[in-house]
Amino acid sequence: MKNYKQDTLCVQAGYSPKTGEARIPPISQSTTYVYEKTQDMADLFDLKSDGYFYTRLANPTVSAFEGKVSALEGGVCGIGCASGMSATALTVFTVAGAGDNILSSQAVYGGTYNLFSTTLPKLGIECRFFNPDDPAEEIEKLIDDKTRIIFTETVANPAIIVLDFDKISAIAQKYGVLFAVDNTLATPVLCRPKDFGANIIIHSSSKYLDGHAAALGGVIVDCGNFKFKGNERYSSFNTPDESYHGLVYADLPVAFGTKCRAQMMRDYGAIMSPQNAFLSYIGSDTLALRMERHSSNARAVAEYLNKHPKIDWVLHPSLKDNKYHKLAQKYMPDGQGGMMSFGIKGSVETCAKFMEALKLITQETHVADVRSCVLHPASTTHRQLSEEDLVKAGVPHNLIRLSVGIENPSDIIADLEQALEQI
Ligand code: PLP
Repeated sequence: MKNYKQDTLCVQAGYSPKTGEARIPPISQSTTYVYEKTQDMADLFDLKSDGYFYTRLANPTVSAFEGKVSALEGGVCGIGCASGMSATALTVFTVAGAGDNILSSQAVYGGTYNLFSTTLPKLGIECRFFNPDDPAEEIEKLIDDKTRIIFTETVANPAIIVLDFDKISAIAQKYGVLFAVDNTLATPVLCRPKDFGANIIIHSSSKYLDGHAAALGGVIVDCGNFKFKGNERYSSFNTPDESYHGLVYADLPVAFGTKCRAQMMRDYGAIMSPQNAFLSYIGSDTLALRMERHSSNARAVAEYLNKHPKIDWVLHPSLKDNKYHKLAQKYMPDGQGGMMSFGIKGSVETCAKFMEALKLITQETHVADVRSCVLHPASTTHRQLSEEDLVKAGVPHNLIRLSVGIENPSDIIADLEQALEQI
């Protein structure tokens, strides 16, 4: 499948039925699998052969979706997780333990920020945040011999900051640190982080990959391009894992992916459900078409809002005056996705009035599915913050987050127009 284009992989990768088998991956709704020969099962436990023995570790429907996402990201292994959050957590746990630290962009999804700033420190893992716009010399200062990962998002949610891949991958390579990218909002259709030096890709497949707001899920992709062998930062990859028959992960062709599944998925059990894998597999068939439409719709909406007298500012990387326009042209030239934010001229009450006047576009905490939706963080997710703290968090009181769907663009714009007329 490796030589096919992304739109072909969306519909063909991950599952190839043999003669007489179902055309689409059946939902393997079973916890376990039967074997006649004891040795066959022993070989599975010893990782000497591929197959299934317990759904907490692997399941045929989940494999189909993992295979598709891995192919799209150019990886060597995909791991389906219960959610995007569990994908992020398992990625960190695969390389870091108490006493270690990780570096993360401060512009990451709020749930990821909480995990890194509050929960990981309780487990003895420190997170050192950096501003992704800072020069490399500043970011480098945070690295020491305990640093295990540099974590970023291709397009940050909700700040809509486009990552400077060349800058971060140069730092990661210089220090031999694993470079992980959450590619949820760009998707492998608009950007393939591996092409720009990333080693591990993370997805909340609950967003564009599923695309229909139907199935929670996450995927970790091992790009197979990081050398663990002999790298002193990663002693847990270079010494025998006593909990897995003395396996030395760095000796395997798929080091990170194997450790993540055999050790972390085994112990944390955050596997994707077969039902959600099925829905995500089917949903992602149309990913390439949808991302094209999300991107062109968002561009049209951004241009419309940018000229509107009641709008203060608009953030979407397709706009020429956007701070990240150049980076977006470099790393995601075919489209910049459907996520944007804008500021309404007026108070929190004006924003609420505008939101309530919308008819087609609904208010939701979700983003990145086929239907357009909005959120006013100052009166919902960030309502506990003071005016000053809102500004510090990059969420001014008048910020509206808009996830542009795939409806006809004129209907989306007409809905915004009639709501703006009412304020
Ligand atoms: N990463 C990004 C960029 C997200 O937007 C989200 C959720 O909104 C997550 C990770 C977490 O994913 P999930 O909600 O599937 O746990």
